[in-house]
Amino acid sequence: MSKFWSPVVRDLIPYVPGEQPRERLIKLNTNENPYPPAPGVGQVLRDYPTDHLRLYPDPESRALREALAREHGIEADQVFVGNGSDEVLALAFQAFFCQERPLSMPAITYSFYPVYCRLYGIDYRTLALGDEWQVPLEAFDAQSGGIVFANPNAPTGHGHDRDAIAALLERVTECVVLIDEAYVDFGGESAIPLIQQYPNLLVTGTFSKSRSLAGLRLGYAIGSRELVEGLERVKNSFNSYPIDSLANAAGVAALEDREHFEACREKVITTRERTRRQLERLGFEVLPSQTNFMLTRHPEHDAAQLFAGLRERGILVRHFNTEALRDFLRISIGTEDEMISLIEALEALCR
Ligand code: PMP
Repeated sequence: MSKFWSPVVRDLIPYVPGEQPRERLIKLNTNENPYPPAPGVGQVLRDYPTDHLRLYPDPESRALREALAREHGIEADQVFVGNGSDEVLALAFQAFFCQERPLSMPAITYSFYPVYCRLYGIDYRTLALGDEWQVPLEAFDAQSGGIVFANPNAPTGHGHDRDAIAALLERVTECVVLIDEAYVDFGGESAIPLIQQYPNLLVTGTFSKSRSLAGLRLGYAIGSRELVEGLERVKNSFNSYPIDSLANAAGVAALEDREHFEACREKVITTRERTRRQLERLGFEVLPSQTNFMLTRHPEHDAAQLFAGLRERGILVRHFNTEALRDFLRISIGTEDEMISLIEALEALCR
């Protein structure tokens, strides 16, 4: 605590990310991709003319925004890019939500959203998830000051299809509906095609998960021109597009390699489903997942103890110490071999 901190900073409980260990552990705690990025990314980084680093990056990140626009069949001015979707989300909270009109979000979702609300002085309300752990779309209030949720949701893994999102957007027209699609490529259905019809829809995405580029910090938002312009207004108050030259080039290379992208995500999905069956055989309840992680609990074994036992065996998973999730572990999908080690360790711990 410091006397120099503003009251907001004094009361702020920052988001606590999963541990980034120094020793070599099997790391299944922060939903990174276990496979390397597209080979073209390495090529771009190796061949990059270092003399170009004298120059500032393209202030409009044109090539990257055009590549994203091609990928999604839209125009570049419907795309905003930032240093990871966390930054894009932060800018969206500042651009579209305010103190006077409380925001709505699910009670269980990405724990960064309440942090942004506190930081930017935005009031918010939370809604309980449904019986199947789904985001309760029907409970969102059309009078809300904004709506935000992840789809598929984190850390539950459940996703709604595009029709369900369209039904929400038919009802909620007077505030921004912010949908965080960080995990959509692992079996979810993207709402991006709906942006043409619903000017209040903003979808965020990331290169950190399905593109294996968490270390590069590259995220984006896709929406109507009016929403992208809102984000640009906030961003330009600091500087223009913040993406460095290397990340701009590497991001384009990642998008160009569809084959690599498809192959990695198929491997992750296959491994996820195999691991699910193995966990169920050990007596775990596993929530259905459209993501690269699974939320699971064992009726007889304490999650905190399992977490500690796995940690001792060199395997890092996530245990959230919140009331709703205390019984659960969230396990990211690693390589086949990593998941075999996980199952062996759990077998020993559940004996
Ligand atoms: N949204 C959700 C739901 C996430 O789980 C994460 C990753 N922790 C992010 C956004 C942020 O991802 P990034 O900043 O790496 O794009």
